Amino acid sequence: MLLSQHAIVGGAVGLATGNPVLGFLAGFLSHQVLDMMPHVDGAPEKVRPRRYSSVVDREWPLSTYITSYIDVTVTTVIIIFIALRVNEPLVFLCGAFGASLPDLMDNVPFWKKCFRSTKFGSWFHGIHSKFHFRWHEAHVYQLILAVCLQLMLTIGGIWVSLRG
Ligand SMILES: [Zn+2]
Repeated sequence: MLLSQHAIVGGAVGLATGNPVLGFLAGFLSHQVLDMMPHVDGAPEKVRPRRYSSVVDREWPLSTYITSYIDVTVTTVIIIFIALRVNEPLVFLCGAFGASLPDLMDNVPFWKKCFRSTKFGSWFHGIHSKFHFRWHEAHVYQLILAVCLQLMLTIGGIWVSLRG
């Protein structure tokens, strides 16, 4: 999942606990649950006409960097927007941070190699990857459905957070 889904859903889940520490833990767990769902993180690799795969763990292409910069910017704006409107902004932020942490530690290209070379990082990367959904030979319509699911999670997370 993109950072926006993780942070927003994590913030909403965190708010449901009503406690910053529980919110952080619930957000952290929500990350693994969201990673198990079919989703699109960046441009999947074309393997046959209209068939895509995300199995290859290659270096990020430029398109993934651009997607990530937009994602981080949009996420920051939405998180600040929600945090300024909820009754328990600290709890919300703890949930959002807990949900973002796995990817911030394990997936950021500037330090992921360094993180994964540590004992904890290598153990954590194993668990993080185990839960992560991968496309093998997905048809383009499956990717479109996944993007719709991601949009619904984003909008649903904003709605649930602001409703309470
Ligand atoms: Zn992840």
